[in-house]
Amino acid sequence: MRFTIGIDLGGSHTAAAAVTGDGSILTTAKRDLTSLKPDHVADEIDAVVQAVLAAAGEKDCDGVGIGSPGNIDERMGVVRFSPNFGWRDVPLKAMLERRIKHPLHILNDARCAALGEFVHGSGAGVADFALITIGTGIGGGFVCNGRLVLGVAMGAGEVGHHVIRPDTGFVCTCGKRGCFEAQASGTGLVRHALALAPSFPKSTLLTRKPQAKWGSKLIRKAVAKGDEHALAAWKTYLADLALGLANIVSFTNPAVIALGGGVGQTDPSLLAEPVAKLVDEQTTMVPKGTTRIVSAKLGNNAGMVGAAVLARLGGVAALRSSLDGAARKTVRA
Ligand SMILES: [Zn+2]
Repeated sequence: MRFTIGIDLGGSHTAAAAVTGDGSILTTAKRDLTSLKPDHVADEIDAVVQAVLAAAGEKDCDGVGIGSPGNIDERMGVVRFSPNFGWRDVPLKAMLERRIKHPLHILNDARCAALGEFVHGSGAGVADFALITIGTGIGGGFVCNGRLVLGVAMGAGEVGHHVIRPDTGFVCTCGKRGCFEAQASGTGLVRHALALAPSFPKSTLLTRKPQAKWGSKLIRKAVAKGDEHALAAWKTYLADLALGLANIVSFTNPAVIALGGGVGQTDPSLLAEPVAKLVDEQTTMVPKGTTRIVSAKLGNNAGMVGAAVLARLGGVAALRSSLDGAARKTVRA
């Protein structure tokens, strides 16, 4: 069966999947990254690609797509800037072409995830769609009128760094204060909980782990159990998440905003449903309720599936010109 390979490149591991034209995953491989040096990362990407090729059959492979963090110059195949990897102007495509003998295509990882969800997940059947990935940071991707929005310098979708709390917010990794990412990522949730800790001396969170080791999962579990401190943090967190999402509704009025990433997988009764109500309260000029807010469907596979779609389409040039409704049907067929 013909397939393309999609690569997900994260801060701690890289993973690959062989994906067929209908979005089915034939096989996957994953390796930990012990360093973020470009040569090591390229070797590990090569290793997962070779593992998938061996399992799925090299002769049926039609190309490889890579979802990489950072801002990507797709024509040169260069990662211009990735603060999380400490990369500047890394020629990732050329490095991989020395190792992998199939056509290679690179796109930002959040845009890959949006493409995957649009074609094979929570965006199926709509023309206007946004995926917001909520994990350590916040990434995003927009589809408008059936087309993935890339921007003149491939920067469209960087919603994590639009400012929602310029005066009272947390300082962001990018240097600004009150970015959507600083307030509403998993890291932001932890910061809300830490800020509220002095008001909750009997918090069950305080008895579990040293505060320096708190992660968003710890807080989300405590929310589900009804811990008062965690619930208070969740309330301020949801208010900030809703501020950013209401802005996104105003920007493009998508039919669906899907919440992805680790935090996006929280039970909809705790996340998607209450935040949708808050977004509606802040939606003024756009008819209320026209944008549905849901959990993303593909989970951790969205980035790999989207990177495989990118490879199947033959790269970013095809995204710029032909991902309209008809092309998407072709992609699905
Ligand atoms: Zn920022």
